[in-house]
Amino acid sequence: MSSAPEEHLRLQEIGVSFGNVNVIPSLDLSVRKGEMVAFLGPSGCGKTTTLRVIAGLNKPSQGRIIVGGRDITHLPIHDRDMGMVFQSYALFPHMNVSRNVAFGLQMRKVSGRDAEARAAQALEMVQLGHLSHRKPKELSGGQQQRVALARALVIEPSILLLDEPLSNLDAKLRDEMRVQIRALQQQSGITAVFVTHDQVEALSMCDRVVVMRGGNVEQFGTPTEVYERPATAFVANFVGRTNRLKGRITSEGVLTAAGQQLRSATTLAPGAVDVLVRPHRIRLQETADAANEVQGTVSSITFIGDLVQYGVRVDDEEVVVEEATRRDRRPLAVSDKVTLGWSAEDTLVYPAGEK
Ligand code: ATP
Repeated sequence: MSSAPEEHLRLQEIGVSFGNVNVIPSLDLSVRKGEMVAFLGPSGCGKTTTLRVIAGLNKPSQGRIIVGGRDITHLPIHDRDMGMVFQSYALFPHMNVSRNVAFGLQMRKVSGRDAEARAAQALEMVQLGHLSHRKPKELSGGQQQRVALARALVIEPSILLLDEPLSNLDAKLRDEMRVQIRALQQQSGITAVFVTHDQVEALSMCDRVVVMRGGNVEQFGTPTEVYERPATAFVANFVGRTNRLKGRITSEGVLTAAGQQLRSATTLAPGAVDVLVRPHRIRLQETADAANEVQGTVSSITFIGDLVQYGVRVDDEEVVVEEATRRDRRPLAVSDKVTLGWSAEDTLVYPAGEK
């Protein structure tokens, strides 16, 4: 019999104010043991503040933080058993790599030899054993980042907190580090909370994603859930790109948009709605089994290697369609008349005007 996953970290009605400004009204969240969770959202939505509250760097104005069933709300930072990796790695410049990593252990009264051995092991884990005698300034940005990660992991913290640790790296290194951090987190079974404003990072690295907006949780779900079944128009817009058509639900419950009757898996009350459809979910000229079918005129074509992006004029709206490059069909041209088709499941409907 499988048991329910164990809860490790719980935020209960957490509120944060700076002076008179309340930036987190009341946030509830439960993270399971061994899970990696991303806080995703636009700049200023409260991701870092929430992470700092967990770490003990910010005091909540209300609410409780529970770790492993224990209330740690008022526990000082150094008693919280958390490892932290921040955007600026904050390594000690005068200490070599090995001493940087061992420092936290020495602070925890681990003996010199033990600390050295464990630091060496942590550096092997991030594949930097061979650079243990270098000073931070003799390392690349990515290597410094890995030292910071080793330093956080070596103390075997109960929870690992990462605040945009990849934002200073170039694209290639960032891709590598994503895979590496995720592998290390899974191997060690550590619970991790990760702050990012990069949706690819959140979707690709984490078990679940908290989409935040204005200090509130807009949606908390697996990457597939937030992408395929966004709870709000905001989530649909923030996580992946989408088309937005003005629509209406009649008093008979019929959905119309782009001058057509459409089918959707969502039901809403009659009134004005926004209909959202992702560009890559729309098919061109192949609509035999599509629940929704509309006519349009190609207005622009952008070739981006593997993909072609079409702008299509439908009724008085512009729809973006993304298609894999094809050789089995005559290339489309601007002013071509086309048929667009998509399924009812891919027709997301929200009350009108939701941002
Ligand atoms: P970013 O992606 O830009 O880092 P974020 O989602 O992490 O943004 P926070 O840094 O948590 O956002 O900030 C949330 C809000 O709280 C913002 O409006 C910010 O201006 C405000 N804020 C953060 N720290 C302080 C502070 N020390 N004093 C006053 N306001 C603050």
